[in-house]
Amino acid sequence: MFDFTLILFLFVLGACFGSFGGVVVLRLMKGQSIISPKSFCQECNTAIAFYDNIPLISYLVLKGRCRKCAKPIGKKLFLIELLSALIFVSLFLKLGLTWNYVEAVVLSWGMLVISFIDFDHRIIPDVFTLPGILIGILGAWVNPDRTVVTSLMGFLAGGGVLWTVAFIYSAVKKEEGMGGGDIKLLAWIGAVMGWQAVIYTILVSSVLGSVVGILMGIRQKSSQGLLKTSIPFGPFLSLAAFSFFFMGEELIKKYLQFFFPFY
Ligand SMILES: [Zn+2]
Repeated sequence: MFDFTLILFLFVLGACFGSFGGVVVLRLMKGQSIISPKSFCQECNTAIAFYDNIPLISYLVLKGRCRKCAKPIGKKLFLIELLSALIFVSLFLKLGLTWNYVEAVVLSWGMLVISFIDFDHRIIPDVFTLPGILIGILGAWVNPDRTVVTSLMGFLAGGGVLWTVAFIYSAVKKEEGMGGGDIKLLAWIGAVMGWQAVIYTILVSSVLGSVVGILMGIRQKSSQGLLKTSIPFGPFLSLAAFSFFFMGEELIKKYLQFFFPFY
């Protein structure tokens, strides 16, 4: 039986971190400071009172509208808060209160924010990935369940493999394929989750990306849309890597049993 109070606490904590993540998404690309001023409506610039700034609840109370100007706000913010809360709780249910949990939460929160930024701006800022890689390697040094060697192997698998793919693609097609931000994100995923997770993430995100790309291509009735990716890849990488926390171990076991029955 899981401790309900603890789960509720982690849900609220996750929502608060999601709220902060939403501020980062809204302001980072506009060059606004993340720390100050306090939250304000992006439409009418009115400062948002603390009682209108409660994660998840305020959105529901205000029905997604600014109290002053009634323009719709915060749908994206609500989604980030909810997803962040679910990340905090679901990873706890899978990993318990362990070092792995802390590291998984940090990476997943980062991937959540990155996904929203990539979706809006088609960029994965180094401000996230580079410190993330460093924290991922340092985390392996602190976490008794991981080693720095496996962390570095994951980092190289993520960074190295994709860099090679991007290099060949740009050499053959004479244009840039996968962005450098995607490669750094995968290097971060590898540094925290190991090289197996990198391979899994590349495979799963490619399938997800292709399916969505094809669906979007058909909907837009454009033949070009099928071949030229105009969709951000960060969300697919993030979703695939996140699912590895829940399915990765099982899948690797099944895979090994299939090809090496006596393994
Ligand atoms: Zn307003």
